[in-house]
Amino acid sequence: MKLNHFSVSHVEGKSRAGLLKTARGYIETPVFMPVGTAATVKAMLPETLEKIGAQILLCNTYHLMLRPGEKIVNQLGGLNKFMNWSGPILTDSGGFQVMSLSKLRELDEKGVTFRSHIDGKKFLLTPEASIMIQETLKSTIIMAFDECTPFPVEKEVAEKSMKLSSRWAERSKSSFKGSNGSILFGIQQGGMFKDLREESSRYLNDIGFDGYAIGGLAVGEPQKKMFEVLDYSTDFFPKDRPRYLMGVGKPGDIIGAVLRGVDMFDCVIPTRSGRNGQAFVKNGTINLKNAQYQLDSSPIDESCFCYCCSNYSRGYLSHLVRSNEILASMLLTHHNLHYYMGLMKNIRELIKRGEFTTFAKQFFK
Ligand SMILES: [Zn+2]
Repeated sequence: MKLNHFSVSHVEGKSRAGLLKTARGYIETPVFMPVGTAATVKAMLPETLEKIGAQILLCNTYHLMLRPGEKIVNQLGGLNKFMNWSGPILTDSGGFQVMSLSKLRELDEKGVTFRSHIDGKKFLLTPEASIMIQETLKSTIIMAFDECTPFPVEKEVAEKSMKLSSRWAERSKSSFKGSNGSILFGIQQGGMFKDLREESSRYLNDIGFDGYAIGGLAVGEPQKKMFEVLDYSTDFFPKDRPRYLMGVGKPGDIIGAVLRGVDMFDCVIPTRSGRNGQAFVKNGTINLKNAQYQLDSSPIDESCFCYCCSNYSRGYLSHLVRSNEILASMLLTHHNLHYYMGLMKNIRELIKRGEFTTFAKQFFK
């Protein structure tokens, strides 16, 4: 009998509030995972992440296998000890970034051969290697190795790619040991095609995973298209497993996806836009580089209680951004992640009260 790590406590339409049990503690869902690419969430101290309510971080296998290498991370105690974060960590499989960042990639049945974008060194990443690297990093949630279908793509290409990902999912599961109490997620592919998404899920459900991700979205398609795919793709998963939409997104994308039954998210938007001088406010973002903020003595958001908004004016932040000061990245990343954590907490509470659908309708108006 398979141990179930996930329980749904509240359902409103397709939206769910739940609890995911991991070897590193419980995660309340829906949840947003700040991205810590190279075992650090850029410009944020781990203790600050904890303070603002981050429950789980995402780290990138591709980056860490190249530098410093998974064996070094392992010898220094594994990712948690290495980066001084005691909570759960999800690692991706490396597949997506091999395809987007590395040089001279060659894909075949076995896996992907590529050259590092750092020093040109040659690597072969296979489902077995990806799982072994993630286990060596001592990740809490491990992702199956897949091929991310680009957008737009012909149906035949999407089908061929989805079938390859299905065979790789099987190999990922076979080589997974779960040695650190870690759990394994499978990834649904199939491009923008309903029957392919359904077929992909059938393969994954037969293999059996602790959670299911939706891959191949947030690859440049319009939001409307993404929602269309989400309208049916979450229905193909078992109800008692968490669903993770990879690489999403903006607040509106997240609200729309929760409405369609998604539980987990990750995205570089709050951190990257913070480093670019952008701050999230109620109705979108403001860019502190703009001249209109130079003499503005108000905080980014009057109603925000974060460290940045409690102590600093838009005028000061505008000066830091224009001067390329490191503190600009620190303060804006802090505010943006605080905003995202607040958004997710609000979503969880609204689902529990049965008021999320009304809130979402209002938001999209
Ligand atoms: Zn703030």
